[in-house]
Order: sequence, then C-alpha cells, then structure tokens
Amino acid sequence: MATRRLRNYVNGGWIEVQTDEWIEVENPATGKVIAQAPLSTAEDVGRAVEAAAAAFPGWSRTPVSRRVQYLFRLLELLRRDEACIARTLVEEMGKSVPDAEAEMKRAVENLEIACAMPVLQQGDKLVDAAAEIDGEVLRVPLGVFGLIAPFNFPAMVPFWFFPYAIAAGNTYVVKPSELVPCTMQRVTELIDEAGLPPGVFNLVNGDRRAGEALVEHPLVKGVSFVGSSAAARKVAEGCARTGKRYQAMGGAKNHLVVMPDAKIEHVIRNMITSCYGCAGQRCMAASAIVCVGDATYRQVCEQLLAASREVIVADPLDPKVAGEAMVLGPVISAKAQRFIHEMIEVGIEEGATLALDGRRVVVPGREGGHYIGPTIFTDVRPGMRIHTTEIFGPVVVILQANDLDEAIGIINDGAYGNGASIYTQSGYYARRFKLEARVGMVGINVGIPAPVAALPFGGMKASQLSDIKAQGRSVVRFFTDERIVTERYWPEG
Ligand code: NAD
Repeated sequence: MATRRLRNYVNGGWIEVQTDEWIEVENPATGKVIAQAPLSTAEDVGRAVEAAAAAFPGWSRTPVSRRVQYLFRLLELLRRDEACIARTLVEEMGKSVPDAEAEMKRAVENLEIACAMPVLQQGDKLVDAAAEIDGEVLRVPLGVFGLIAPFNFPAMVPFWFFPYAIAAGNTYVVKPSELVPCTMQRVTELIDEAGLPPGVFNLVNGDRRAGEALVEHPLVKGVSFVGSSAAARKVAEGCARTGKRYQAMGGAKNHLVVMPDAKIEHVIRNMITSCYGCAGQRCMAASAIVCVGDATYRQVCEQLLAASREVIVADPLDPKVAGEAMVLGPVISAKAQRFIHEMIEVGIEEGATLALDGRRVVVPGREGGHYIGPTIFTDVRPGMRIHTTEIFGPVVVILQANDLDEAIGIINDGAYGNGASIYTQSGYYARRFKLEARVGMVGINVGIPAPVAALPFGGMKASQLSDIKAQGRSVVRFFTDERIVTERYWPEG
C-alpha cells in the first residue's frame, strides 16, 4: 500500500505540495514509515502567509463574540475525536496512551480558555485622566502570526498559541515539527470542519527552512517558537532583525530537590513519572535530582534504582500494556537514541557511576524501535556535561548538596531555567525555594510543575529568550497591541 502523503492547508483548502523533497514520518516504536510529509519551500510558506494576510481585514472586523463561535464548534469536534487524535499522536511520537490523552486534555483546556476572549481582550479606561480628558487602552489584533513547533507535544504546543491568536482577531500559520506532522494534519481537518473563513488558519509542513521562511516573511507580524535553545536563539535574532514580535521558548534541564523531611514514598513515585514519562522528552521532565544530606542521597539512590528497574519499556500501542499507567516508550528517532548513547559514554568518561544502564534494552518484536531503558548516574558533580546538557531521554543524574543554599545554587548556576521542584514538608524551605530558584515554573511536592491552561507557561534564561509566556491571559498580550487613546470633547455651542 502506498504511504500516505500529507498536505498543506492554505486559504481554506488542502494543497498537494509540488516538491521532490519529502520526509518519511516514522513510528518510533517500530521504525515503520507511517506517512510522508512535504518539505515546503519559502514560496509555499509565502502562499500561506499571503492567504492569512488577505483574510486579516475581514476576520479582525468580525465581532469577537462571533469569532469565538468557531472555536466553540472546534471544541465540540475536538472532544468528539480526542481519543482518535491521541492515537495518531502516540503512533508518530511514541509517548504512552495516558500521556497522549493528557496532552489532548491540555489542548482542549487551552481552547476553552481562548473561548473567553470577549473577556480576555477587554481593554481599560481611565476616566478624567486629565482635566476633561479620558484615557483608554484598546487591545487590537495585529495581523498574521506563526508558530514553529517542536516534536514532543504535537497537539498541545499549537494550542498554546493559535486559538488565542485567532480569537483575538489575528490570522495564523502553523508549521509543525517535521518529525510529527500527522497530529496537526488531523486537527486541521477539524478546523476545516469547523468552517473558519478561508485563510484564517493555515498549515504548512516542512523543516527548519520553512521555519526560517516564516521568520523572514515581511507580512508576518509575530512568531511563537518552541524547540531547542539553539534554534530559539536563531528565531529570536531573525525576528528582531526583521522587526517582528517573538516568543522563543527553548530547552531545559529541570531539577528536583529532595529535603531530608520529604515524604520519600510519594517522592519516588513522582520521580518515576517525571523522569521517564514521555521517555524523558518533556520540556518539564526532571532529569537532575539534588538530594540534601547524605542520608537523603543514599535513600533516594536506593529507592529510585529499585523503582526504575520495575518500569515497563514497551511499544505504547502494544495491547498488552494498554492498561498500564506508566509505560516508557521509544525516543523520537535513531538520531536521538545515538545522541543519548553518546551522552551516557560522556558520563562514564567524566567519572560518574552508571548505576542503571538502559542502553541494552530490547523490546521483542519491536527491534526497529528506538528504545532506551531507565538510566541513572550517581556520584554526579555539578558542572559535569551529563549535568549541564539537555539529554532529552530517560537519563537521570543524582547529585548531593549539603543544604538548601547549595541545592538552589546548583539550579541557579545552570544555563536553563524552565522548571524545578522541591520536596519538603517545611513551609520555610518551600517559600525560600519559590523565591530564590531562578526558573519560570516552580513545583512544591509536584514532579512536573506544568501549569494549567488558565495560567502562563514558560521559563527563563536559555529556556525562554522572550518575556511573554504561552497560554492563558498572558499570551493575549502577545497577540494584541495596546492602543492608547487620549480623548476630549469640547462643550457644544
Ligand atoms: P528543534 O529546535 O530541533 O525544532 C523545533 C522546530 O523548529 C521544528 O519545527 C524545526 O523544524 C524548527 N527549526 C529548527 N531550526 C530552526 C531555525 N533555525 N529556524 C526556524 N525553525 C527552526 O526542537 P525539537 O527537537 O523539535 O524539540 C525538542 C526541544 O524543544 C527540546 O529542547 C525541548 O526542551 C524544547 N521544548 C521546550 C518547551 C518549552 O516550553 N520551553 C516545550 C516543548 C519543547
């Protein structure tokens, strides 16, 4: 049977891209090719941007109360097809079914919040700002916005942005990751079914070059980027050079700090999900554990090792593991697997102890898949490359600190600042941690402190090279311009 070829969605219609360059989309759990996606050129991107620009005047003048009706319709459709899209997501990305379902829930949640745009987009008014003069702040849409998305959350990341952008009166172009384009293809079918006016939402498949074309296009007003820090920096530079707004969210190395008073039995369960869920490929995954005190260090090492040995490594779509809450699936590609293997070698060379080695794991019948079992390094010192590098796999490094100050110092010395959590029963330690740890998202006895859609999502330092975070009320600022009106009226006669 011929492999399915994906299409772009431009100006309300599906387009067969005329190109010789196609990327094979693989199921990372089996290595089998499931689709082919076109690598769109700058011209293809241009067509989508022009369609979005043409749709902007009409869409931005459509009352917000009418604009959100399309999103309510999409919400119904998404709820109808949620389970089926989650399956597509598992097939191309390799995360477990419960993880994919949770991702879909967060996508739906973002859509729900964006439906509140008639409230979120309200401005301000200052009556009598000066004598007989009123000041007013309007929040107006700007034009065409675009998203360049990463592979690890094929559904959720687009929903951090496009529903808000569209509800606020902008038009949009999404470029999914070339590694996982099938999920947004399915979502776009629903967007088409929801009947948005042509050009309001557009989908362009492609790789880095399509992302660059979006950044360079003069009709694009702003770009949201989510991916590695290196690419985030390039996008930030490109947007600054071409006079665009940007959000540039990058990589992470998230720490979990364990205080001596922590409830260890809960902590270990929590760590397993945080470190190995999504095969360690969440931007909020914990990959460095800092234990305060020798006894805590020994206890965590021993218990985490024991619990990690129990983790099931499998194809998440294997019916035998369907009922399992925690399944460690494959990493995204053979290239990612090679990089993780290299980093494990680096750790050994640096003198850390490889207490659990996941490199030789075999999943029977899935020999073409890209699996790595739970991997733990102990005796890790701050600054080792396995501690400072985003490995983006199920590899955990365990460090020891003498006190909370030292633990916070280890986090703050790092290049990244996405999330960090502390495990403690002490309000004093928790308060200090949330005020002093330089990260965007803090957890207290929570392994993955990813905020719900009503709250902002984003980090600091190399994890976010811009100021406005994703989702919720926060992102409405990115998609609207504050227009400040100063008005006075002379008396009649
Ligand atoms: P990546 O940087 O390789 O690619 C991300 C996207 O950018 C892809 O669509 C790719 O085609 C495009 N791209 C790559 N280089 C580009 C360039 N120079 N100009 C324009 N577009 C370009 O990232 P990835 O491997 O797909 O995703 C994993 C990374 O994303 C990890 O570092 C992870 O931490 C990060 N991430 C961060 C967050 C966050 O909230 N900070 C969320 C999810 C993922």
